Amino acid sequence: MGDKMKTITDEEYLTLVLMADFQYPKKPNLVSDGYADGYPMWDAFCPKCGCGLEDSDAFCPDCGQMIDWSEDDTVEEEYNKRKEETK
Ligand SMILES: [Zn+2]
Repeated sequence: MGDKMKTITDEEYLTLVLMADFQYPKKPNLVSDGYADGYPMWDAFCPKCGCGLEDSDAFCPDCGQMIDWSEDDTVEEEYNKRKEETK
C-alpha cells in the first residue's frame, strides 16, 4: 500500500544469510575417544571451524556457531527398530 520495496545490497544479504546460518544449531562433530567405565567417550568439534568444544558450550568459542547437543534420535530409532524385529 504505497510502501516502497526495500532493497538491500549484496553485502547486506550475505550478512543476513551468514547470521541465519550461525543461528541454526548444528550438531557437533563427534570423534570417538575410546571407552571409560563402559561408556563411549567423545571429543566434540565445531562443525563449522573444527575448534574443540566443551560439553557445556552452547556456542563455539571460536566462530560462534550455535551447537545442538540434543541426543541423536537415530540411536533411538535404531533401538526401536530392533525391538520390533525381535518381537
Ligand atoms: Zn567454530
